[in-house]
Amino acid sequence: MRFDVISLFPDYVSHCLKAGVVGRAFERSIAQLHTWNPRDFTHDNYRRIDERPFGGGPGMVMMADPLLECLQAIKDADVTPAPVLYMSPQGRPFNQAKARELARLPRVILLAGRYEGVDQRFLDTHVDQEISIGDFVLSGGELPAVTVVDAVVRLLDGVLNDADSAIQDSFEQGLLDCPHYTRSESLGTAGVPDVLLSGNHALIARWRRKQSLGQTWLKRPDLLGSMALSKQDAELLNEFKTEQNAN
Ligand code: SAM
Repeated sequence: MRFDVISLFPDYVSHCLKAGVVGRAFERSIAQLHTWNPRDFTHDNYRRIDERPFGGGPGMVMMADPLLECLQAIKDADVTPAPVLYMSPQGRPFNQAKARELARLPRVILLAGRYEGVDQRFLDTHVDQEISIGDFVLSGGELPAVTVVDAVVRLLDGVLNDADSAIQDSFEQGLLDCPHYTRSESLGTAGVPDVLLSGNHALIARWRRKQSLGQTWLKRPDLLGSMALSKQDAELLNEFKTEQNAN
């Protein structure tokens, strides 16, 4: 899958995507990252990218012209069709379902804004979707773009050593992930639920499902509100609640 990221700080974007499984995915060419600096598409001596807004007011706005040329260069570089996604606090909230949807595409183009944002005419004519990573305002769209790329790349075939680990992740099945424990020299097995040491895979799967339901109920009850629980899940959740009350 190909990612084209438009940013005034391209090194920041590529640096953030060098670590861990995502970095290895780019090294192994499972995904390709291309960064584009709109400043390279300016024609004045100052390589000016921003201007004061019409009508006055504070701050600067990213000008449309360098972005138009930049986007044309991106499209000329590879004809694979791609939606243009503008990272914006005003966009639709990004979530796991969106990451899955994007992971099915061959290519996406992401625009990271700066200053007060981008000339509205560029957004109106060239942006397909606005994506927000939360109800707060960052100084730039680089971290949102990196967030989207990271979440999408780890879903691509061959990126995670064990594809099942992504399926167990929070939000994949509408629930939060269950707690995890591992070997500890200092703690031994103290505090580890007995079932996880039992070797009984059916009981372990049951415990994990119950914990996922329970953790979701404790931390994100809103997620449960939009789910129709099976009879078995409802029983597991009741069991979790009873255990909580007993503790
Ligand atoms: N004036 C804009 C507004 O209030 O909607 C905010 C501009 S912000 C300082 C600069 C850039 O950061 C935006 O153009 C956008 O690309 C990015 N950005 C900031 N917060 C974001 C968020 N929560 N999600 C996605 N992008 C964000």
